[in-house]
Amino acid sequence: AAKQRNEGAVVYEDAIDKGSQQSLSLLTELRQAVENNEFRLFVQPKVTLATGRVVGVEALVRWQHPVRGNVFPDQFIPFAEQTGFIRVLTHWVLERSAELCHALAQRGIHLKVSVNLSTRDLLDQELPFKFGEIFMRHHVSPGAFCLEITESAIMDDPVRAQQTLERLHGMGCDLSIDDFGTGYSSLAYLKRLPVDELKIDKSFVLNMANDVGDAKIVRSTIDLGHNMGLRVVAEGIESEAAWHILAEMGCDQGQGYFMSRPMPADQLASWVETWRA
Ligand code: C2E
Ligand code: CA
Ligand code: CA
Ligand code: CA
Repeated sequence: AAKQRNEGAVVYEDAIDKGSQQSLSLLTELRQAVENNEFRLFVQPKVTLATGRVVGVEALVRWQHPVRGNVFPDQFIPFAEQTGFIRVLTHWVLERSAELCHALAQRGIHLKVSVNLSTRDLLDQELPFKFGEIFMRHHVSPGAFCLEITESAIMDDPVRAQQTLERLHGMGCDLSIDDFGTGYSSLAYLKRLPVDELKIDKSFVLNMANDVGDAKIVRSTIDLGHNMGLRVVAEGIESEAAWHILAEMGCDQGQGYFMSRPMPADQLASWVETWRA
């Protein structure tokens, strides 16, 4: 038994060692990815459900790795958050989003761009200043942006998060609570934070047509949001049926594969023109 334990310990230490080496190389790779221009800005349209009009997009990052191919965000965002690299990435995403916003405006297309923020971003007290600098440099208004935050990001350090969010909101950015309903029960924060939008998590929306429980949660969330004067958005709309149910429930906006999968940012303008036609 002792021998087994010993062997176990060795394997364990080895794994830790390998683990940290792997982490180190992933961090190096992420840093190089910025230098080598391997990140891509993808966007997914958001539409008004009652009319079908495109009103915004969500910015979603993709990593085009030279060897591993297309790497999806769930494979590196959590790691980027742990290591603090997310700040570099958020900065990159906002910079590209501002470029996109400016390019669209020049073609007469005015859309609100939603950008995802992480806990680490909210703890950075320089963030509003950095964002302001980007908006100015690209000649875009803060009002053209919506910042999506998760409930857990707020819970991490509520006081500091609140300060950062109030400054961003004061500049004119909209604030959205993302993945609403999946996190901690933080209804109290809705009262205290300057929130403009609730985003119902796709886990409730995907099954809504078949699951009465999910449909009830969605309906209640829409009512809750509206009672608090907020815009309510549903993500994960994969069928016309889901769109209709949500529209009937009074949900304001939606996004999902039924309208479009996320696409490279430079394809958006022509997508919008086809969608309108
Ligand atoms: P999220 O913010 O909840 O983004 C929505 C995710 O749902 C996206 O996955 C999107 O492609 C996916 N989605 C949209 N419509 C549908 C649908 O109809 N059906 C299904 N099954 N899925 C749909 P994606 O792009 O893989 O991103 C995953 C998560 O990674 C995001 O979840 C977000 O938390 C994070 N993420 C992505 N880009 C960024 C970023 O630039 N910054 C930060 N901090 N996080 C990001
Ligand atoms: Ca989001
Ligand atoms: Ca979401
Ligand atoms: Ca999510």
